[in-house]
Amino acid sequence: MKLTNNLYFYPEQGMLDSNTYIIKSNPSIIIDPGNTQFLATKVGMMHQDGIDPKDIGIIVNTHLHIDHRTANEAFKKLSGAKIALHPFQKKNYNLVVLEADRLLGVEPVEFKEDYLLDEKLLKAGEIEIEMIPCPGHSPDCVCYYLPKEKALICGDVLFEMNTGRVDLPGGDAEALKQSIEALAKLDIEYLLPGHMDIVAGAERVKENFSYIKFNVFPWL
Ligand SMILES: [Zn+2]
Ligand SMILES: [Zn+2]
Repeated sequence: MKLTNNLYFYPEQGMLDSNTYIIKSNPSIIIDPGNTQFLATKVGMMHQDGIDPKDIGIIVNTHLHIDHRTANEAFKKLSGAKIALHPFQKKNYNLVVLEADRLLGVEPVEFKEDYLLDEKLLKAGEIEIEMIPCPGHSPDCVCYYLPKEKALICGDVLFEMNTGRVDLPGGDAEALKQSIEALAKLDIEYLLPGHMDIVAGAERVKENFSYIKFNVFPWL
């Protein structure tokens, strides 16, 4: 589904899957390919939008929980894209991939990155994407902010009327609160979370931040 000229949204398809986003540029970027089981369905939707996976050059993740990254390798095979990790994701790989998967009772699905990202900026052709570390839900959470589109791809940091859980390895409620407070200062038209629906419109996004502040965090 096309959101703006450069931004596409493919909703989660089932258990242990996540929303997938594509930033169309040269090369294009895929954020969170999700679960391998649902990849073919999403690729079908991409074709309907005129997106050929072979045009996608970079695979990144909002964080490395199982529902966001198990299709990394499969998407790489299909597209020829390179997997790029944020330094915080590399640093927390054992905790967020190996320990978290075992805690969830599954054999860890591993992958290897092709290169590490710069800490602050991800460039694809004309498009510059700010990478904002947002620990709390997981220590390796990174949000991707497109200032021109006023879009924030925020993974599991926050959702429509809720936040991510903090009970998986490295989770930290106080850090999550601080991450969300920093994000609330950004100019956002499209809040694009890792699960459930997107929040569109600057007013709705502001209301969503207020709702979370007063209903999710009053105990902090
Ligand atoms: Zn997560
Ligand atoms: Zn998730």
